[in-house]
Amino acid sequence: MAQVQRMSRLLVKTLRDDPADAETLSHKLLVRAGYVRRNSAGIWSWLPLGKKVLDNVSRVVREEMDAIGAQEVLLPALLPKEPYEASARWEEYGDLLFRLKDRKGGEYLLGPTHEEIFTLVVKDQVSSYKDLPVMLYQIQTKYRDEARPRSGVLRGREFQMKDSYSFDTTDEGLAESYRLHREAYQKIFARLGLDYRIVSAVSGAMGGSASEEFLAPAAAGEDTFVDCPNCDYAANTEAVTFALTPVEDAAHPAAEELDTPDTPTIESLAELLGVPASATLKNLLVKVDGEIVAVGVPGNREVDLGKLGEHLAPAVVELVTAEDFEGRPDLVRGYVGPQGLEKVRYLADPRVAPGTSWITGANKQDTHARNVVCGRDFEVDQYLDVVVVEEGDPCPKCGTGLKLDRAIEIGHIFQLGRKYADTFQLDVLGQNGKPVRVTMGSYGIGVSRAVAALAEQHADEQGLYWPKEIAPADVHVVAAGKALQTELALDVSEKLAAAGVRVLVDERPGVSPGVKFTDAELIGVPQILVAGRRSGEGVVELKDRRTGEREELTVEEAIARLT
Ligand code: ATP
Ligand code: MG
Ligand code: MG
Ligand code: MG
Repeated sequence: MAQVQRMSRLLVKTLRDDPADAETLSHKLLVRAGYVRRNSAGIWSWLPLGKKVLDNVSRVVREEMDAIGAQEVLLPALLPKEPYEASARWEEYGDLLFRLKDRKGGEYLLGPTHEEIFTLVVKDQVSSYKDLPVMLYQIQTKYRDEARPRSGVLRGREFQMKDSYSFDTTDEGLAESYRLHREAYQKIFARLGLDYRIVSAVSGAMGGSASEEFLAPAAAGEDTFVDCPNCDYAANTEAVTFALTPVEDAAHPAAEELDTPDTPTIESLAELLGVPASATLKNLLVKVDGEIVAVGVPGNREVDLGKLGEHLAPAVVELVTAEDFEGRPDLVRGYVGPQGLEKVRYLADPRVAPGTSWITGANKQDTHARNVVCGRDFEVDQYLDVVVVEEGDPCPKCGTGLKLDRAIEIGHIFQLGRKYADTFQLDVLGQNGKPVRVTMGSYGIGVSRAVAALAEQHADEQGLYWPKEIAPADVHVVAAGKALQTELALDVSEKLAAAGVRVLVDERPGVSPGVKFTDAELIGVPQILVAGRRSGEGVVELKDRRTGEREELTVEEAIARLT
């Protein structure tokens, strides 16, 4: 037996006007229909209707993760600094990280994502290859101090994410865990009723192999992606930039010609680079000394442009001492910034196609360069180049003109490889009794963001229309009249609930039918059942919220239709 939710008792205050600060459709509608309320920038409360939708998304995600054998856990959001120092992300995340101190002065952070902590949990719990593979996930509140949290719950500073992590002993095992996640994600987004594309992404700083994003096309999207109208090629602009731009092609302006501002702002950098500040970061390709050092940068647009600033000042170095980099100076170059050597890229990483280069953090234990002095050990020789991917650029696969579109990143899957296992020495005992280093994947879904993406894709002039599985109720019963209509509405509601249908009934006394209809359209439950002028004859009207189709039915027929 499902419950009947009465509008007269529901904590919901619908608004006729768009909130003044709202830019996106989902932001406007989710606020106006009473699903969420803003507490402060990027920080949101989920009201009863919104919490139901959020829980429905979580349920679908949970069911599909369980179905591939992933096990649900819940790790803390409040985390000690040390593991993130070991992985260098305490620094690398920069301003995106919420950092705090306890009463004794111990340093902590609020988790933006949990690779470090999951690696440590598995290190603690798993000792033999027999215990692997294992896949773990959680649905949890994440924290990122996003530079400009606009767009409502699409980009929160506090938000809900499903993050999972796979642990395998072999590359084939990792590929299989990745495949399982990819398929689970396809099922999840299909069940949610989201229109989405899977696009190739560059795994960049993660240092590795496969990475794909799940993008929901929407005008409000902050990501640009390319789609080939002729073949199956689709990629985010970072990945297509890599594919389209051979290193030797570009002409490099000399560094001296660039007037680097002391404290780069987004605007000053964009101006310097000659690109619009708003929508282009993912299209940026930065070349230093003729080679790609940054293509966008994973993370958020504003932070990325800030990061780009680091690339303007530093110089390129050839490393001078062999042992600084695992005895392979031929493979490695780094840049020097104000703090000394900051980043290293492997020039001949066997996993990377010839001609591309890779960025990875150099702040790992034992891979730090020491005593490298600018002017003594290397010459400054810096170039900068910007490439903007445009509509009509040739598809790297078939040459057809590419389409450029906006989308919301709703999921991201990654083959991390051994980066974190190396950092934390995550080994298990192998079949031959020798230790084997574990290889990992990480996989995220923006659970709260998915609610906003759904709202973007399921809305019209009147308001929202949720897919059934996600809607806060199955049917919205409206008592459009006085006592007779109210009595019928409540009676039908009870019968529907008894048959397992989730009912929201609008029996608010003293509220006009017009207001009730407007609210029903705004709230967006898939079916609207009206007890109106023919209630005396036991006849109601059933309306499909999405198509607007309506039909007069007897109460019995209506119940049969809805159950
Ligand atoms: P974006 O490019 O939008 O900043 P991201 O690439 O930084 O996202 P990931 O680290 O890949 O995000 O996190 C996994 C998923 O979490 C994303 O695919 C997205 O759906 C969601 N997510 C990331 N940041 C936010 C946020 N600030 N608010 C809501 N959801 C988010
Ligand atoms: Mg992203
Ligand atoms: Mg980000
Ligand atoms: Mg991502």
